[in-house]
Amino acid sequence: MQPLYELTIHELNGLLKKKEIKSVDITKSYIDRIKKIDPVINSYLSIDPERAMDDAKMADTVIEKTSDGDFPELTGIPLSIKDIYLMKDTKTTCASKILENFNSPYDSTVIKKLKENNFVFLGKTNMDEFAMGSSTENSAFKITKNPWDTSRVPGGSSGGSAAGVSAGLCAGSFGTDTGGSIRQPASLCGVVGLKPTYGIISRYGIIAFSSSLDQAGPIAKDVLDCAILLKSVAGYDKNDHTSRKFEIKDYPELVRKAGKSIIKGLKIGFPVEFFSEGLEKDVYKKIMDVKELFKDLGAQTIDISLPDTSYSIAAYYVIATSEASSNLERYDGIRYGYRFIDDKNKTGDLNELFVNSRTKGFGKEVKRRIMLGTFALSAGYYDAYYKKASLVRKLIIKNYKDAFNKVDMIAGPTSPTAAFLIGEKMIDPLSMYLSDIYTISINLAYLPAMSIPVGITGENSSSASKLPVGMQIIAPWLAEDKMLCVAKVIEDTVGFAEKYKPPLHESFFDEGKGRTADMADRSANIK
Ligand code: GLN
Repeated sequence: MQPLYELTIHELNGLLKKKEIKSVDITKSYIDRIKKIDPVINSYLSIDPERAMDDAKMADTVIEKTSDGDFPELTGIPLSIKDIYLMKDTKTTCASKILENFNSPYDSTVIKKLKENNFVFLGKTNMDEFAMGSSTENSAFKITKNPWDTSRVPGGSSGGSAAGVSAGLCAGSFGTDTGGSIRQPASLCGVVGLKPTYGIISRYGIIAFSSSLDQAGPIAKDVLDCAILLKSVAGYDKNDHTSRKFEIKDYPELVRKAGKSIIKGLKIGFPVEFFSEGLEKDVYKKIMDVKELFKDLGAQTIDISLPDTSYSIAAYYVIATSEASSNLERYDGIRYGYRFIDDKNKTGDLNELFVNSRTKGFGKEVKRRIMLGTFALSAGYYDAYYKKASLVRKLIIKNYKDAFNKVDMIAGPTSPTAAFLIGEKMIDPLSMYLSDIYTISINLAYLPAMSIPVGITGENSSSASKLPVGMQIIAPWLAEDKMLCVAKVIEDTVGFAEKYKPPLHESFFDEGKGRTADMADRSANIK
């Protein structure tokens, strides 16, 4: 039998329902796997095996008491959580020194709902500090490795979650996505990640980065798992002023029923702007293969234009940094987290305490963004930057509205390249910012989108790295149900999970370092 850590949530749920296994068995399988593999991958910032086993025992009691398997699908399923979600009695660090010893005073709504579903909490995952980044290298604590090639990044900022799902270190995970932080790491790690319509998952108790863009969402082994995770946490929440009243559909049920016939007659738009300079050749090829597949399944593929795409990065970095500079004001060394105590500061100068605590507590990228945002919001510059960026945001929303008048769904690459080397983009923040070129405009337009793995790079070469390629599917507002169904059909037709697996076998660990690749070789491969 396959090891339990390799099974999907729905497969595990099936076995639990038939009483063929217990949650304690599943949980133990994950804990053993974490102990063995995570010292190499670094998916987790903290784990709590004892608590996980207690959760599992409680879930087993619920299962035993319920007849006919009538318990929530997440009952007894071990999940990991990005370290940006408050969870009572756990530390929530946001991968920042400034929150290194911060204990969550209450449960975020997502955690509250997961607890109501009897999930098993494995631990908190690594991320870019305050979710700012695309590689998880901005964590103050550790660097997460990509399970497909440990010399490469898992993407970011939810890189710990995506690497964990990919390496079998949790059955599923929750991340956050402000400009691509669920979809891009899911793409780079060969797993499924979904960023829902703005407002359908409560942000209450999730540390804020950029409030008009942040959304929570699941990262999972397959599309059905993603639907299960989404359904268990979606819904209106009075504690979140940006929460939205809407009808929660039975996403898993719809996904289970989705057959090839749903693609027939669908109009799928491929934005020309998503296939321009900087797109890796193998990524391009794989997306084109899926375009053909859509045609074979009876869809109409249409080349469309989102003409203002080229302004989205600039608009995003003004809006996101402005909101971040305001959201991060609260970390002042007084109310939260790290306080710089210096014996030399005998005068007790308050301003000095603020400045020193923030200077020493925040990392480089976070400070860069606070400075950018503070500048963009300052008197005399507000109109030139923040207001302008908000106007561009309106144009981008209009681009998508116009597009969805012509097509039912939009598809393209999730990320311009497959996983890049650790350190490759750290010296050049602008090149790092470009990793989100295809994901950022979706957050600006409040839309739902997801990434699913559709192939690997270097298939025809023995020396090139074999790295996952993700395709992004973008849907109109609140059309998560249709998006998930389309994704499911593509997933079944491509059969990625059956064909490819990250190389985390025994010999991989004997070698101790994973595969390496020739950087020059890969840059020659950029379009
Ligand atoms: N990479 C983008 C940034 O650094 C997006 C981050 C995110 O989605 N949290 O802002």
